[in-house]
Order: sequence, then C-alpha cells, then structure tokens
Amino acid sequence: EELIMAAGFTPCRIESGDGREEGADAFLPANLCPYVRGLLDSALSGRCDGLHGVVLVASCDAMRRLADIWTLYVGGRFIHRLDVPRRSDCLAENFFVEQLRGLRSALEREAVRRIADDDIARAIETLNETRKLISRISLLRTDPFSPLTGSEFAAIARCAVESDKERFNTEARRFLSAFGGKVKDRTERPRVLLCGSIVNGFALQELIEDAGGAVVTDDLCTGLRHYDGLVDASSDPLRGIARRYLRRAGCARMKGADARIRRLLGLAKEHGAAGVVYHTLKFCDLVQADLPRLREALRQEGIPLLHVDRDGASAAGGQLTTRVEAFIELLEKGSRQD
Ligand code: SF4
Repeated sequence: EELIMAAGFTPCRIESGDGREEGADAFLPANLCPYVRGLLDSALSGRCDGLHGVVLVASCDAMRRLADIWTLYVGGRFIHRLDVPRRSDCLAENFFVEQLRGLRSALEREAVRRIADDDIARAIETLNETRKLISRISLLRTDPFSPLTGSEFAAIARCAVESDKERFNTEARRFLSAFGGKVKDRTERPRVLLCGSIVNGFALQELIEDAGGAVVTDDLCTGLRHYDGLVDASSDPLRGIARRYLRRAGCARMKGADARIRRLLGLAKEHGAAGVVYHTLKFCDLVQADLPRLREALRQEGIPLLHVDRDGASAAGGQLTTRVEAFIELLEKGSRQD
C-alpha cells in the first residue's frame, strides 16, 4: 500500500462480490477457493473497470491461477505479481525487499515518475496513522457501553481499505471525537471473537449480532488484522515496509498453527470472549488445517467454538442463521461445547 500511494495511486482491495462466481466457471474449477472465483467474476463482469491496475500476490495456488487467468483474459494497463515469503527471517526479509524494489520500479514506469524515499516516508506516515485510528475505533466495540457494534466496525474497516487514506484519517478522527461517548449497554450479550478466512462485507457480523451476540474483536484480513503493526519509519523505507508486512499478525498462509492458535487464544482472553466463531471458505486448506488444533486448544480453555464453513465470502443463509442462533443461545446459557 505504501508504494502504491507513494506513486500517486490510491490502494484499495478488490471485493469478490456478494457470492457471485458464475462468471469464473469457464476459467476456474468449481472446487477452487470461492473468494478467488468471486474476484475473477468481479473482474470479468466489469466491477473492476475503475481500477488503474492490479497487484496480484502469489499467496497460494488459487491466487496464482487467478493471476494467470487475469493476465490472459482480463488484462489491463498494469498487472504486477508480487511474491511474499511465508517466513520472516533475514533471508526472507532480503527476498521481500527485492520484491518491493521490483514493485517500486514497475510503479515508477507506470506512473512515469520517480518514487523518492520522501514520497514513501509520507505514505508510511499516513498509513501508520490509519492503523492507529482503526485500532482505537476497534477498542470501542470491545467496550459494552460503547455506541459501536462489530458490524459497524467492519463497515469502517472496509471503508478504510477502499478510500483515500488522508481523507479516511480526517473522517476517522472526527468520528472518534463525536462517538467516543457511552450510550449502549451490551453487557448481557455474549462476547464473540470472529476469526478465520476472509469475510466480505459484514453480513456474518450482523447475523451474530441479530442472534444476540456481540463481535468484540476479530482476527480477519478484512478486519483488525489488516491494520496490525506499524512500519518503522526510521529505517530504510523498503526494509521497514518488508519487516512490518512479514512480522505483523498473520493469517494461516503467513504463520504456523502454533503461532496462530497462541494469538487467537490471547485475543479471546484479552477481550473476554465467551465464544469463538471460526469462519472458513470451502477449498481453502490453509485455514481449514488449523481447525482441529484450535478446537482442542479452545476446549482445554473451556471456550466454545462454532465452525462456519461457507462457499461464498459474503453469503449467508437460513441454515447458517439457525446455527449461529443456537450457538449464541448456548453462550447465553453459559454452556460449553466441545
Ligand atoms: S482464502 Fe485460502 S485459498 Fe482463498 S485466496 Fe485466501 S489463502 Fe488462498
């Protein structure tokens, strides 16, 4: 994001649509990650036409196939593939710095301008500020007397990832000073940690809230995790960016199960979660693989878990509603589920 901003563009995340994937049928198999299929559907149906270009990250096989198909059948002015290492040691950091150098050069060619270190430093400052503001806003949903719900936080986090960051920061500061009061009592609502695969939109958070729960924190790439950690502005800018991206809280693609489970247990305890909703997308083996060990770790701590496996990043349905309602009822009764 820092380099894209420094080149004069506005970084944003592509939405994978509201469960729409039909457009991808001719290009990608049906048993592939629905998020990736949804991204391709968005591109083929023209919902990405306003973009100047895309940076596609080679994070998993599904994303690599998306990059292949995008290059062949979607096209566009600027398509850049970025390799991100899973490890965060010195070798991985050096490799990622080289990847960032390549992205910087590609963006310079596209923008027909040189990206100076000062441009990157300004972008780092702005994005660090966005991360701090989002963290402060997230704390509001943790407070049972705060006016902010988990679904409202998700809407704000989505807005941050899609907007001009300077403008978002101004609005977020205004929001914090206007909504910092204590108006809503949610002490009776079971507190829930929502984590796992990407959740598009906020339908799942609303489902939990409508059932009587409160999403007090999350570990989602569309939620708080995206804003974890700051770039050290005092170091070489590319190295500072590389360190932050490799060392921040990671998803199942970036961190091993031990580190992930430690983090999720820590989050659940820190925020007093009565239960955990673990969301997975069908055919994403990376996130599914953590589930048995997470289930066991939570069982030992006496924290109930609801596993929600969906075939669309934003789809909800009657069966899911019933399961979420039953889970919240279970939490309300203080029961335990293994
Ligand atoms: S959800 Fe899983 S399969 Fe889909 S893009 Fe992310 S890591 Fe890859």
